[in-house]
Amino acid sequence: MAQSLLGQMKEFLTKKGWLSTRPLFVTIDGDGFIYRSGFDHRSVGELIYDEILCVYPYCFTASFIAGEMEKYPAEFDVDLVREILALENVEAASHSWSHPHDWVSEDVDIEQETTHSVRYIEQRLLPQGKKVKLFLWTGKCNPTEQALAAVDRLGIGNLNGCNPFVPWVWVGKSLQFSARAYDDWHYMDLGRLIRETGGSSVYSFLKGYHGRLDGFSRIITFYHDHPDLPVHVYFHWYSAVRRESLDALKKVLDWCSDQGCRPVFASDYVTDLRASITRVSR
Ligand SMILES: [Zn+2]
Repeated sequence: MAQSLLGQMKEFLTKKGWLSTRPLFVTIDGDGFIYRSGFDHRSVGELIYDEILCVYPYCFTASFIAGEMEKYPAEFDVDLVREILALENVEAASHSWSHPHDWVSEDVDIEQETTHSVRYIEQRLLPQGKKVKLFLWTGKCNPTEQALAAVDRLGIGNLNGCNPFVPWVWVGKSLQFSARAYDDWHYMDLGRLIRETGGSSVYSFLKGYHGRLDGFSRIITFYHDHPDLPVHVYFHWYSAVRRESLDALKKVLDWCSDQGCRPVFASDYVTDLRASITRVSR
């Protein structure tokens, strides 16, 4: 991909007066990075790289579950992650060390999940000059005050959970920033489908299910109906296990192009939002 594609596209859209003020950011949830596509010989990461990251001139926040690098060394393609994170239009995020489901649980090692996962990604996966910019909460997305404080100490923002209509909540002295839209999991109705089919894992379900899984494109109606919200495209790596769910994601991103949304990195969105809150509360 041409390194300056993003800049060229922004310049072109601005000149044409087509760049709206509605911000657009795209976050990739770390789940399923180690999966392989069910319709192609490539891994889901390769497909997202080839068909999404190198094609759409948007700002992407790509997250990884850092501990998978050690737990699944054969499946976690380190070279691919490095290529992804070297792209000009991709920033890095941590999706924790082991993907805690419930952050309130005593079993969660907060330092390992937050500080260590961020440092690990920075040391092993990021090119020089790039840092992890955001922490994306996992599971129930219910960080404790201590977990939020640990991420705050790293000097990075956080995102995920809460209600898309409420941009942030205070948890003790820290701010938890909300995802601003529902994700592909929600629109594909995966929770219900996996339960009903007795599937043991997301991966085995995605590979074995015979119905269509293109529900994510329905989020366009949500974006359309709530023009006051930023456009937050929030999907998981595993959306590329199935051809039709990857195509649904493209349909969503094509809609964003038609709207002339203003691409921003999710970390910049969070930073700006935090600054506005600090100003108001002063
Ligand atoms: Zn996740």
